[in-house]
Amino acid sequence: MRRVSKVAMAIGVACLPISAVASDDKATLPGVSVIHKGSTEKLPGAAANFTGTVTVEGRFQRDAPARIGGGTVTFAAGAHTAWHTHPLGQTLVVTRGHGYVQQWGQPAERFGPGDVVWIGPGVKHWHGAGPDEAMTHVALAESNNGQSVTWNELVSDAEYAEAVRNQAR
Ligand code: MN
Repeated sequence: MRRVSKVAMAIGVACLPISAVASDDKATLPGVSVIHKGSTEKLPGAAANFTGTVTVEGRFQRDAPARIGGGTVTFAAGAHTAWHTHPLGQTLVVTRGHGYVQQWGQPAERFGPGDVVWIGPGVKHWHGAGPDEAMTHVALAESNNGQSVTWNELVSDAEYAEAVRNQAR
């Protein structure tokens, strides 16, 4: 399947009209790349920053002046991040399962597949799976001076249980 698509791609490139790839533009034309699912290492979330089983795959970080970076994060049932902040905020696109996000001092909010979560710059929060269901989200954050996250303390079991019990509607 992959071989076929590569051949098709090569044919597609060969068929491009010359005018579409004017020599002046060559140096500045952005490349296109696909990180194929399963082609990157599935990295475990660091124990200092996550509770439970968490894996990250398809990680990327664009070079300056671009700032965007991210990855696909899968949380086993009950797994979640520690408290943390993002200097320029974070967007989560939920692809599978239901989970929670909680801002410090606020009730948690439940989300599910297709939901998009925004966390503002510097807002202390955690996110993760619900207690009975795995959850996957794509996490996107812009870096500031090379930093896209600042980790704080782990979410305690009592905090997690209370967040799930006391979720906002
Ligand atoms: Mn976050």
